[in-house]
Amino acid sequence: MIKKTLRQISEMIAVKNEITSFADFEITGVSIDSRKIENGNLFIPFKGENSDGHKFVEDSLKMGAAAALWQSDVPHPPTHLPILIVDNCLEALQELAREYRRQLPVKVVGITGSNGKTTTKDMTASLLSTTYKVQKTEGNYNNHIGLPLTVLGLDEDTEIAVLEMGMSGRGEIEFLTKLASPDAVVITNIGESHLLDLGSREGIAEAKLEILQGLKEGGLAVIHGDEPLLMERINKYKGNVQVQTFGRSNTNDFYPTEIIQLDQGNRFKIHGSSENFELPVLGTHNILNALAAMIIAHYFEVPFTKMNQGLTNVKLTNMRMELVEGVHGEKIINDAYNASPTSMMAAIELVSNLKGYEKVILVLGDMLELGPQEEQYHQQIGGSLNPGKIDFVFTFGKLAERIAEGARSTLGKHRVFSFMEKNELIKELEQHVNNQTLVLVKASRGMKLEEIVTALQNK
Ligand code: ATP
Ligand code: MG
Repeated sequence: MIKKTLRQISEMIAVKNEITSFADFEITGVSIDSRKIENGNLFIPFKGENSDGHKFVEDSLKMGAAAALWQSDVPHPPTHLPILIVDNCLEALQELAREYRRQLPVKVVGITGSNGKTTTKDMTASLLSTTYKVQKTEGNYNNHIGLPLTVLGLDEDTEIAVLEMGMSGRGEIEFLTKLASPDAVVITNIGESHLLDLGSREGIAEAKLEILQGLKEGGLAVIHGDEPLLMERINKYKGNVQVQTFGRSNTNDFYPTEIIQLDQGNRFKIHGSSENFELPVLGTHNILNALAAMIIAHYFEVPFTKMNQGLTNVKLTNMRMELVEGVHGEKIINDAYNASPTSMMAAIELVSNLKGYEKVILVLGDMLELGPQEEQYHQQIGGSLNPGKIDFVFTFGKLAERIAEGARSTLGKHRVFSFMEKNELIKELEQHVNNQTLVLVKASRGMKLEEIVTALQNK
């Protein structure tokens, strides 16, 4: 993590007060949470609408912080303490990160897309770790605060940093990519999340492509080649950057030639290598994420034999396609972390094709933030179910009621149950599961469907 004297810090960001008396103090790492201060940290207080971090500046120093920033419009800065006064603490955090990144020799990989960012980030880091000292975004620290904090957490001897870049509107990815100045970038896919803010899938594609604006001259852009919205627009960048694509179709640079579904994952081959790659995570969409990660690893000259080892070590963060067992012996795929139409379709496709179960049950909740066409998206999911592959559908929530409506047309009304109460859903669901059943649980984060998974595991 960043290690600098306050004099060096004051050369990186605009400081408004006299700091000579403590210019030689050294800070190690930054923290924006006074409860999580570690020895030597620079504490950065934020002034929010309801709370003001400046109240905790004194405490943070008592708890071991070496210094703190202070926003100039907040009265009474404590003059006896090592305080750096700045115009705006958030902007100072971002500026410090930008400047720190500029000083580091580290190579940066930036990852964006509608779905699969965290997964692809974890896979990329795992592949690169076979050969390099790698650091990556922890959890989902992918926004205008999380990304600068991640950058400031980089050690000087880290060789490659893999950074997730998230967004909810135009201009956000541009900001993050210009801050991080990546050597290579990935756009995993274009889905429907944030349609509300961006208006159309075209708008989403444009927003994701902003990641190229910070990409170094001659750097590598890895994009989902089966997505026409990306392919149509990428030409404009060719010449300045290298472009490589991944996808299902054989027109891509990296595509799977042979896929074998395993109990706990996938085995696949790619064009151009005789290696059998084993990926211990479910879902063909995860093969696509792996392909994107493999292009990056290939770019950094990791040999295919080593990649195999990297893929074996992939561990995904909780609630992303996690396979657990319920008390009746049923297998549950907990994908309650998030949902959009693209990712819901991908998950349903997965369970439709898993072998070895007598009964497949979908437990689906609302997909939030989809904009004016939200009801249609839900209806379409229900309407696209294959009655030969899916046995029962349980829905939870108001929008998911439209999934149920669609599903009644494909599966017939006796195989569809819709609920507004989780407990009622659980009660009914328990009547239907046994040790030959596979249950997929998926919805937007806000629906908290993991409660259903926990109930199935603990009853
Ligand atoms: P967030 O925007 O919340 O940070 P993310 O882009 O980081 O999400 P992940 O956390 O990796 O995405 O995965 C979220 C969900 O998206 C997973 O539960 C999975 O079902 C689905 N998903 C992952 N990769 C893909 C993909 N390539 N295509 C479609 N759906 C995917
Ligand atoms: Mg994420």
